[in-house]
Amino acid sequence: MRFFFKNILFILGFFLFASASAGSEKSGSDRETDDALVNLIQQSQLSREKLVYLVDSLLNGDTISFCVLDALNKRMATASFYNLAIDTNPPAHNLYGSWDIENPNCYRPELSINDTSFNFDLVDQLNGCGFAMPARGIITSLYGYRDGKMHNGIDIALHTGDTVVSAFRGMVRVAKRYGSFGNVVVIRHYNGFETVYAHLSKIDVQPGDMVDPGQYIGKGGNTGRSRGAHLHFEIRFKGNAVNPRYIVDLDKKKILSDAVVVKKTNTGFVAYPVGTIFHTVRGGDYLYKVALQYGITVKQLCAWNGIGKKANLVAGRKLKVSQ
Ligand SMILES: [Zn+2]
Repeated sequence: MRFFFKNILFILGFFLFASASAGSEKSGSDRETDDALVNLIQQSQLSREKLVYLVDSLLNGDTISFCVLDALNKRMATASFYNLAIDTNPPAHNLYGSWDIENPNCYRPELSINDTSFNFDLVDQLNGCGFAMPARGIITSLYGYRDGKMHNGIDIALHTGDTVVSAFRGMVRVAKRYGSFGNVVVIRHYNGFETVYAHLSKIDVQPGDMVDPGQYIGKGGNTGRSRGAHLHFEIRFKGNAVNPRYIVDLDKKKILSDAVVVKKTNTGFVAYPVGTIFHTVRGGDYLYKVALQYGITVKQLCAWNGIGKKANLVAGRKLKVSQ
């Protein structure tokens, strides 16, 4: 099991690192405490929960002695402990079920057919918090219809060879050349989304690799169906592209909100920051009436939706009515 070994290395790596920074002169009573700890760690009946608790309490201290770390490393390295402790499933396995390392577009519509609404926590500590813009350049194309064709992501200008990084924490699912994407990396994230990085000149990760937000995954380029070097970046939920604009503030290059709600609409899945309220325009609605309904001004309504005061409201259109 690839995940199994990676997790062992991750945890051992952490302990080895901790041991490198530990160690100082110890008094006699400290040494007795250390001996007691080592004995405790070596006890075969020590449960996984107690061991985790012990590690947690040790990390609160200023130093951890080498003998305690050594005992912990040996204990953690035992297979029986790992079999119990490590979830060997890839990220968001409860949502997706399958794990296909060959096909970026492996999810059939059936996977999301019964989904109506999901809340995604983007900054959950357990899931690894944080977001990083996948490339540094300016955005040259947004999500939406472009020349009569749907553009499922955003395009970020770059020079061939520029660094491309993972947006969130997760595990690389696909890393290969694939059709019009060219060299593409797809990452499954613990937050429930997948992200796609296309047209790369070089891929430097492989399926199963764990990545953090901001971690290098490859170099930008012009492979596949691409005119000029750029990164095509998508955020997907179960294979359905969502508009990154409602998850990420593309100007400030930060996530808009700690949590995101993904809702099914007539046209597909829409993701937007939690706390934002939308109004669906009905026949007979006009700007002043909608503003009044939500206790906001027409000026705010226009600003939040990028429309003018004389905008024609088409039934079915969604208007942002809170910040
Ligand atoms: Zn694109």
